[in-house]
Amino acid sequence: MVYRVAERLQAPRGTFDVLPDDSERREAVESAARRVLGGAGYRRIETPAFEATELFARGVGDSTDIVQKEMYTFEDGGGRSLTLRPEGTAPICRAYAEHGMHRLPQPVKLWYLGSFFRYERAQAGRYRQFWQVGAEAIGSDDPAVDAESILLLATLLDELDVREVRLRIGSLGSPDSRVAYRERLVAHLRAHEEELAEEVRVRIDLNPLRAFDSDHPGTREVMREAPRMIDALSPQDAEHFAAVRAMLDAAGQPYEVDPTLVRGLDYYTRTVFELTSDALGAQSGVGGGGRYDGLVEQLGGRQAPGMGWAAGVERILLAAGEQPVAAPEVDLFVAVDGGDGARTAAFAVAAEGRRARMHAQLELAGRSLKGQLKQAARVRARYVAVVGDTSSALRDMDTGEQTDVETETIVARILRERGLGA
Ligand code: AMP
Repeated sequence: MVYRVAERLQAPRGTFDVLPDDSERREAVESAARRVLGGAGYRRIETPAFEATELFARGVGDSTDIVQKEMYTFEDGGGRSLTLRPEGTAPICRAYAEHGMHRLPQPVKLWYLGSFFRYERAQAGRYRQFWQVGAEAIGSDDPAVDAESILLLATLLDELDVREVRLRIGSLGSPDSRVAYRERLVAHLRAHEEELAEEVRVRIDLNPLRAFDSDHPGTREVMREAPRMIDALSPQDAEHFAAVRAMLDAAGQPYEVDPTLVRGLDYYTRTVFELTSDALGAQSGVGGGGRYDGLVEQLGGRQAPGMGWAAGVERILLAAGEQPVAAPEVDLFVAVDGGDGARTAAFAVAAEGRRARMHAQLELAGRSLKGQLKQAARVRARYVAVVGDTSSALRDMDTGEQTDVETETIVARILRERGLGA
């Protein structure tokens, strides 16, 4: 292949680089997740970035936008159809079944953080590769699992200072009650077919619930009069929903009940919820999820109820606003004031410092001594060692005091001064 020399390559549309200046805020999301979720007994899991396409076709559902038009699907060298994961719940349910996690104490509580891929219209807050933090609790249908899971996401967003958060919850009932409801909804949509958006009309049979998500004015008008799942819940489903609400009330968590909340994935049963931030524009969803009592079985595992959510890391950061992040501390900057011998000796000092668990930086750009001291100040080094061919000096940047020292004793001196050495 011939490449034109002058052509400057760019990251694909809808993707972005996480630059060093961005990475500290993202790490803060990870540590908050570890603290909040770990504290509630959730343990981290990572699944592969790609899976058999069938997992998402079966798990997420053939009628969903994700499976119909958003998956990055490819054939590998062995002719298998694989898909870059568009979401995390189906893979985790696969892992639960594959590793026989039903033998562990239930529910099995897992959290994850990783990147996901959807071929979507790229815009602010919506990307083709994005990161999600998520939590799943599999193996219990206790409404306390639902309430706890919702509360954990609300707590995480709160810890990360996500602004103007609103929680909406709803219930989709269980598949049995949904069948009868669905028939009534389809009948309503059929009766008003002319007024519906084209994309809703063609999916009346495939996915009638999604009509609730439409922005189309005619469709919205029709949906105002549509029968609502929440009024058609079985007594058991209604009781479950009431219990979840009572627990959120007891925990002092504000929420609105939204009878039109359906969410875009087919696997949900009973509780569904969404957290949005009014600080975001059109893409206001920060995170959401729900209960999926049939999913593990649908993927070939034993029946196991589940509940979980995912939140977008980029959306969290957009809605959290700017927060000062403390620059990492540098204990020692090793400057060179001499020839090759000094350079090698300086290298050894930095290596020894790192072995002693110091954050140590070495001059790597051939700067003048003045330039090196400037660089040391820029990285806010606590100590600067100036290593020469025959002698060295150690400067305490807090006090400005400089002492001549034997090169070999630099690290030991710093440790001693900081009360860490022998
Ligand atoms: P979902 O799996 O669609 O329920 O998405 C859960 C969360 O992931 C959303 O609330 C967003 O915060 C985030 N998210 C979903 N899709 C994207 C995307 N294309 N770009 C950025 N974030 C996304």
